[in-house]
Amino acid sequence: MRIGIDVDGVLRDLIGHLTDHVKENHPEYADQILTSTSWDWHDWLPFWSEEEAEKYIFEDNYIDLFGIDCPPIKSSLEDWIPLKRWAEDNGHELVMVSAQREQTREITDLWLEKWGFDFKEKHYTHLKHLIDVDVLIDDSPAKLGRFKKKSVNNGTPIVFKQTWNTKSQKSKMSIDRLSDIMTRVFG
Ligand SMILES: [Mg+2]
Repeated sequence: MRIGIDVDGVLRDLIGHLTDHVKENHPEYADQILTSTSWDWHDWLPFWSEEEAEKYIFEDNYIDLFGIDCPPIKSSLEDWIPLKRWAEDNGHELVMVSAQREQTREITDLWLEKWGFDFKEKHYTHLKHLIDVDVLIDDSPAKLGRFKKKSVNNGTPIVFKQTWNTKSQKSKMSIDRLSDIMTRVFG
């Protein structure tokens, strides 16, 4: 099996880090930040328009936000070594599939290296369904939905549970942490 693994929301805690970053730099907004329920910034950063949030995240602060100081998702860091060992033992390949924008790709490579997520194969693309993987572990409802419909490999989407994908969890296979792949999905 070729197992596709997303970065933000699966390995990297971008949303948690973004929340802390906004609180620190804009304390006046601290009590207006809502629980993230989607990848639409305005839904949970209601004080900014979509354009203002995009500017904050992808222009003014992307090095801070996507850089090596961004914490990993704790369970994913814990699970990485056992997952890698399991994949090797069972002939599976772990493939990174991430839709980074142009300016965050290089810092994402550095981030992965710093936290030890040493993939042998990596793909940066917004068209994840075109990557030849048998399953895709992702947190984005849109990416998972498109993968389900159009995967070139007729692959299976797997929802990495987050507060912003509760609806997807109802219709698709879902996991709480990466190690669930070893036990619940292929166990
Ligand atoms: Mg993601």
